[in-house]
Amino acid sequence: MQKLRLKVVIVGERGVGKTSIAMRFSKDEFPDNPEPTRKPKLYLAQRVYDETLVEWVVWELPTDMDPGMRLPYYTGADGAVLVLDVTKPETLYTSLRWVHEFCEACRSQGIVRPMVVVANKVDRILEDPRMMHVVSGAKRFANGCAVKYAMPIIFVEASAKTAQGVDEIFERLMRACLKLRKS
Ligand code: GDP
Ligand code: MG
Repeated sequence: MQKLRLKVVIVGERGVGKTSIAMRFSKDEFPDNPEPTRKPKLYLAQRVYDETLVEWVVWELPTDMDPGMRLPYYTGADGAVLVLDVTKPETLYTSLRWVHEFCEACRSQGIVRPMVVVANKVDRILEDPRMMHVVSGAKRFANGCAVKYAMPIIFVEASAKTAQGVDEIFERLMRACLKLRKS
């Protein structure tokens, strides 16, 4: 079987569910009360897609980390996951900085890398259907960023709590990475 190692960074505003998505993906657990993440945190996972074994190396970057310190993580990454929170519409307006940082880091190196924009916590839409507007807004945000930065930016709806969409985040990222390598 073919083996592939993919390095990914997870970024986004505080409390959007970065740790929860990483834990769901690597350990299939939903932590009860995740501690705020103060240092870059490493998560490992393995998945088989078709005939390829992918070893995932996933770094959650703390929201408060100095932007200069994030740079080496970006430049070493095969792709990025930006988490938005459908219960917090403001994350749509404050999260452009994450796309900008990652895309600029790639551009400065002359490389193209995919990013997945995740609308997380969709399990909570049942509580308030108005959250559907945030999901549509997040999709428009992802499409707008793809055009603005000329990068492959993919949109996925997910819930770290129910696990909906979590595997899809990484599978779509992997397929985008392979497509770029072939082109
Ligand atoms: P981070 O700061 O981005 O790493 O966010 P955390 O993973 O620490 O999660 C922040 C809060 O959101 C915690 O109370 C989590 O339990 C909650 N949370 C994360 N993902 C989900 C989800 O998919 N659904 C629900 N309902 N809550 C979530
Ligand atoms: Mg965290």
